[in-house]
Amino acid sequence: MTKNMETGWNFDNSYVRLPQSFFTSQNPTPVSSPKLIIFNDSVAAFLGLNSKELKSDEGVAVMAGNKIPEGASPLAQAYAGHQFGHLNMLGDGRAILLGEQLTPSGERFDIQLKGPGRTPYSRGGDGRAALGPMLREYIISEAMHALGIPTTRSLSVVATGEPVFREDELPGAILTRVAASHLRVGTFQYAAGARPVEELQALADYAIKRHYPEVEADENQYLSFLQEVIKRQAKLIANWQLVGFIHGVMNTDNMTISGETIDYGPCAFMDTYDPATVFSSIDREGRYAYGNQPNIGIWNLARFAESLLPLLADDQEEAVTLAQEKLADFSQLFKSHWLGGMRGKLGIFNEEAEDESLIEGLLDLMQKNRADYTNTFRALTVDKLENLKLFDTPEFAVWHKQWQERLERQQESKDSILQRMKKSNPAVIPRNHRVEEALDAAVNNEDYSVMEKLLEVLSNPYAHTPEQEDYTAPAAATARPYKTFCGT
Ligand code: AMP
Ligand code: MG
Repeated sequence: MTKNMETGWNFDNSYVRLPQSFFTSQNPTPVSSPKLIIFNDSVAAFLGLNSKELKSDEGVAVMAGNKIPEGASPLAQAYAGHQFGHLNMLGDGRAILLGEQLTPSGERFDIQLKGPGRTPYSRGGDGRAALGPMLREYIISEAMHALGIPTTRSLSVVATGEPVFREDELPGAILTRVAASHLRVGTFQYAAGARPVEELQALADYAIKRHYPEVEADENQYLSFLQEVIKRQAKLIANWQLVGFIHGVMNTDNMTISGETIDYGPCAFMDTYDPATVFSSIDREGRYAYGNQPNIGIWNLARFAESLLPLLADDQEEAVTLAQEKLADFSQLFKSHWLGGMRGKLGIFNEEAEDESLIEGLLDLMQKNRADYTNTFRALTVDKLENLKLFDTPEFAVWHKQWQERLERQQESKDSILQRMKKSNPAVIPRNHRVEEALDAAVNNEDYSVMEKLLEVLSNPYAHTPEQEDYTAPAAATARPYKTFCGT
């Protein structure tokens, strides 16, 4: 471990101590003229990094892959993954882990460059990334963090000065991503598929130590590990549903062991409430539609459980039974987080059996009237029932009366209810047209002010300030539905 007193880089790289098959050492490929586009001072601060040093030419060179900081041990990770249901060997094809930063408070975070050039896992790809998608990941991951949802963070985006060739020629960029780790369900699938069981066990021991040390002493620590990952993912996906976040590409390589949201490719926030909402241009069958995310969650976790089978019990049948018991808990865990969150959104403190039908009643009306999801809850919060057709319908009046009666059946004051609703209902989310507007100005006009203003507004989504008002409007109706593309 070597701490650089000037920059604050303080690497301790545990991943390289795993069996060699889990990674390939690989340096980033230098780029011609790196330029810092955006930098996250608050992420730098919690990492213990010196913002001023990092923004200097030497610091930017690190985030561009042109300079390896002292103590780093760059590598590309090996993993597999079910992509749209099909198992493939993948690995970091366009990402390089520089190392693990130990923070002043003793936490450990992966520092990863996304878009640093080819690796042995690149297959036909160029290992590069375009500026637009990297800024998009920066904006949405930071918005997710501000919403209180576990996520990888973004330290910076650096333009490379080199073009990348997709359908068009685009400016290239590198995102510095910060994560609790980059262990994925796909890492375990890789280990279980082609490697000796000792390596699978080494990986599981590593993941437990890093993310779930509390289960180490359990009688069957691998079973407890499975259970804890299921718990975190159930909570994470419930959180996504509550804010209307659609991940878009919930392949098993994009599901973390830590419970953080990862891989902001074709993700987007739903505007009009409809469980069938899909934004991703490649998700033609709606596998990763909003309403299907919990089902995909359990499907992915079943793949995780399968990978762990050799560690759960010596007898295969017994291992399957144990895994199935844990997987069976997912629905209940998800439901209780979701119901709890929905109660919060409606200002409900205690529990009544009919709460679920009250909630479903509102969602049904939202869907029927094509109401904006975030703005419906926002209007209920600030008690301004205007601008949505939903609010003028007789069915809504009936529902509203039921809700008011429900609120009266609890002790809490009007003010406590309001505070609870404010904390549970964001005024602003990264609306697609706002994100596009910011990216357009940044990528096409080198004007970063639109993005900076958007990031500022998104950094405090539960504030409900007058300045946020402008950012609450949904996009004007267009002939073509909004589409997102994988950030390749
Ligand atoms: P994703 O859809 O972003 O989760 O990526 C799926 C797989 O494709 C991962 O193994 C990526 O590393 C790889 N990949 C995506 N884009 C590129 C690229 N431009 N060059 C090389 N590999 C890539
Ligand atoms: Mg991925």
